[in-house]
Formats: sequence, structure tokens, C-alpha cells
Amino acid sequence: MSATGRVTTTDLVVDYRNETGTIRALDCVGLDVEAGTSVAIMGHSGSGKSTLLGLLAGLAIPTRGSVTVGTETISSLPESQRVAFRRRALGMVYQADNLLPHLTVEENVGLQLAICRRETAAADRSDPQVLLARLGLSKLARRLPDQLSGGERQRVAVARAVIHRPGVILADEPTGALDAASARIVIELLVEVHREIGATLVVVTHDPTIAGHLARIVHLETPSSTSAVTHAG
Ligand code: ADP
Repeated sequence: MSATGRVTTTDLVVDYRNETGTIRALDCVGLDVEAGTSVAIMGHSGSGKSTLLGLLAGLAIPTRGSVTVGTETISSLPESQRVAFRRRALGMVYQADNLLPHLTVEENVGLQLAICRRETAAADRSDPQVLLARLGLSKLARRLPDQLSGGERQRVAVARAVIHRPGVILADEPTGALDAASARIVIELLVEVHREIGATLVVVTHDPTIAGHLARIVHLETPSSTSAVTHAG
């Protein structure tokens, strides 16, 4: 169980500047996700879901406002410390699995563990073979990614994301490229793993069926409307 999982944002504003002007992607977004709970982030295309997830991951810093994960205000950290924070505290799953094509399943998961080991002692207790067995993926351990179905690749991507037992799992449309049956298996796996390791789970999705697997749903409104974020469920 990790104590690093509470996720909060305060008065988050993100402006993107381009040659024609400024686009406000997030406007005063406040989010509070208790450690160990799960939340779906929904909203229309362009409402800032990916921008928000990128800030929670420390991939960017906001124009104004703050992002805190556990005891760390990551929006105030320099890039090098945000990289270390990501390796130590986060597991990330994207729509595309991003597995390295020339490495087997076991090697893909093992590589992630090696990268995280420098940042976290919890990784020392992890073993790719044990996790793959636990997730019902042992049969696939020696295969290359192109020898797997899309759903199997995403299950491996989940294994890779949690091998170092992160405090927070962030997933950006993790089932967006899957058929309904595979999508259900992947979201159920994510929920099961988050409960098992006590990690906070934040999932961006446009699919209400997927969102229904999470404990709470947060709707992002497209900026320029009066309320930037509303809560439901
Ligand atoms: P969502 O994930 O909900 O579709 P995004 O976070 O991708 O929304 O985008 C929010 C808004 O910010 C959109 O209007 C988008 O066009 C704009 N945007 C996103 N990234 C950039 C960028 N790098 N430069 C300029 N505008 C961007």
C-alpha cells in the first residue's frame, strides 16, 4: 500500500499560445481524488482531458495553479525532479500500448522495472514473472508485441504500468482502440490492480460504460463556460 496517492489540483489554468493567439485549455479546474480511490474524467473533445492528465503526470506545468500528488507539489518541481517523480510514483497507460516491438512481453515489463528501480525501493520487491502470472499473462511472456491481440497488448501495458507498485495510475483512453469485449477485460484489470496495490486510479475516457467501472465520474467543461468542473456520481 502506498501513501503517495492523493491527487489534488487547485485553480488550474492552462493557456496554449500559438501564432493566432491564446487557447485556454483549462480554466480554474479543482480536482480532489482521495488516495486509493478511482475516478473517470469525461468531457467533450477539446475540454482539456489530455491536458489535465499531462499535468497530473508532471509532463507539463500549468500557467497558473498547482498540482499535488501525495506530499509533492509537482507543478513546482523542475523537469529533472518531475521525471524522477514519474518513475517513482506513477504508472501510465495510453490508448496505444507503446510496447517496444523488439522486446518480449517479459522484457518490456522487466525494462520498466529496471528504469523505476533507481527511483523506488518498492520496485525491488517486484518480479515480472510473478506479476504476469498474477494477471493471467504467463502464456504470453515470451511473445513479441506483434504476436498479441490489441486487448492482450493493453493487458501487458497495464502490467508494465504497475510493476513498480506506483501510488497513482493514470490512463488516457486506455480502451479507446479496443472492441467492447477487450475493453471490458482491460478496465476490469485496471480496477482490480488499483485495488490490490492501493493505488489511486485516474482514467480519461469518452465511454460511459468504461467510466461506470470507476468509483466517481468528473465531467470537464470546455473553458469559457462558467463552471470548469462539475462532479457526479
Ligand atoms: P481533450 O483531451 O479533452 O480532447 P485537450 O487537452 O487535448 O482536450 O485540448 C484542450 C484544448 O487545448 C483544445 O482546444 C486543443 O486544441 C488545445 N490544445 C491542446 N494541446 C495544444 C497545444 N500543444 N498547442 C495549442 N493548443 C493545444
